Amino acid sequence: MSALRAIFFDLDDTLYSTSEFALRARRNSVEAMVKAGLRADPSALLAELIEVVEEFSSNYERHFDQLLQRLPRRLYRGVNPAIIVAAGVAAYHDTKFRYLCPYEDAYEVLRDLARTELIRGVITAGLANKQAEKLVRLRIAPLLSPGAIFISDQLGINKPNIKMYQRACSDLNLKPAESMYVGDNAAMDIEPAKRIGMLTVHVIRGSTSVGKGAGYAPDWIVGNFWELLDVLRDHLGVVIPPRTAEGGPEQHAPQAFDTDGRMA
Ligand SMILES: [Mg+2]
Repeated sequence: MSALRAIFFDLDDTLYSTSEFALRARRNSVEAMVKAGLRADPSALLAELIEVVEEFSSNYERHFDQLLQRLPRRLYRGVNPAIIVAAGVAAYHDTKFRYLCPYEDAYEVLRDLARTELIRGVITAGLANKQAEKLVRLRIAPLLSPGAIFISDQLGINKPNIKMYQRACSDLNLKPAESMYVGDNAAMDIEPAKRIGMLTVHVIRGSTSVGKGAGYAPDWIVGNFWELLDVLRDHLGVVIPPRTAEGGPEQHAPQAFDTDGRMA
């Protein structure tokens, strides 16, 4: 019998590749703006857009307006700038419909964990509507315990404040020692969770390590969620019930979308 009662996950760059998705969406957006009549080089526009995001934060609502404001007006003379902005916004959303999907191993392991008694939650920093939309679009929400989703915007507390992790544990009557946190960022995810006594798993995909040099070492480092499953089984006695013929919660199937992004 495992002493572990709950497992919480970071969302961005832990359950899906936020960085890779954002780059793809931004590239599609600037290309759409050029098609809509903006006379500029897409790669220069992309660099400019990335600068706007850095200066105004990723949760700012009007990146494409600001991008256009930075450029000389002659680059879109004769074209209504609102159309160019809308083309960028629409392409961003289209990319979201088509390509937002979880890491395959993360999705599969969450499906496995959904057949256990473990509480499965998310502790994430960001705006409530944006983070919730990601969980729904990624089709991860149905695999989580409904009362175990904690978003900084809804708590008035942000990472890396340890209060965010304390709040998740106390809301669900969990001792930190019987709870695990899985994240990609040492400073934002591992250190605060470790400081309150949670078990911590640092997911490092490829060679990149985010937030290096934090003072608290994780209990485990894994390269993907299959290795996380090994940790749960081998070190914490978690037993994963076999999959049934019915297959459990709906399989994530990006191939079920046609090229227009509609359900096939
Ligand atoms: Mg992250």
